[in-house]
Amino acid sequence: RAAELAQMEKMNLVSALAASISHEVRNPLTVTRGFLQLLQSPDLHKDQRIEYYELAISELDRAQDVITDYLTFAKSDSTEFTVLDVKSELEKVVSIIEPLANMSSIKIEQTLQDECFTIGSKQIFRQALINICKNSIEAMPDGGNLSIQLAVIHERVSLTISDNGQGMSQDQLIQIGKPYFSTKEKGTGLGIMVVKNVVKEMNGEILVNSELRKGTTFTLLFPPVK
Ligand code: ADP
Ligand code: MG
Repeated sequence: RAAELAQMEKMNLVSALAASISHEVRNPLTVTRGFLQLLQSPDLHKDQRIEYYELAISELDRAQDVITDYLTFAKSDSTEFTVLDVKSELEKVVSIIEPLANMSSIKIEQTLQDECFTIGSKQIFRQALINICKNSIEAMPDGGNLSIQLAVIHERVSLTISDNGQGMSQDQLIQIGKPYFSTKEKGTGLGIMVVKNVVKEMNGEILVNSELRKGTTFTLLFPPVK
């Protein structure tokens, strides 16, 4: 049942991100097309020809990277637990949610410490982080800051994700994570439930602080691995 619900939320995320994926792929393709057109010119200097050629290739690489990222995220059958480099997972997640943040003029600030390791599955961990970040982005429809911090504090891998968005009332705070609890018109009310399950699976702890019209901070704590 929980797996089914997780699957539903995943599909919802995928469809919500679809618009930004096509945007992110279309951009480099358009730029590449421009360079190829320039390369048609017969009286182009050799240096310029090389430069346009290299730029076109790097734009195609960019498009490919975007596709790889989204497809990695879409297929979630690899739930094997391994040592996770939390910083690199966060960087991956930021690259996935960046286009969505850009659409709402949200600035992403990161302070990420190296050498933060814990045990978990890449797929479900990324899914949880994406769900939290997506909620933060949705809580700031008119822009704001998404701040992500990672450090080892008191011998725990501590990860905080803060926004200065709508925030939650005391009553909402009590209810988040209950299946289908949503204050959104088209919400699934499954995102935080998935997050809670993932954090539990990874022997972690989750803390939520929120104030109406001020913002929300999610803190995730995990056992460190040296
Ligand atoms: P959904 O996003 O589909 O509504 P979630 O389980 O992801 O479902 O979130 C449940 C509810 O928790 C949201 O509808 C919202 O009311 C609240 N919530 C979660 N994260 C935030 C946040 N960062 N800021 C404000 N409210 C939030
Ligand atoms: Mg959500």
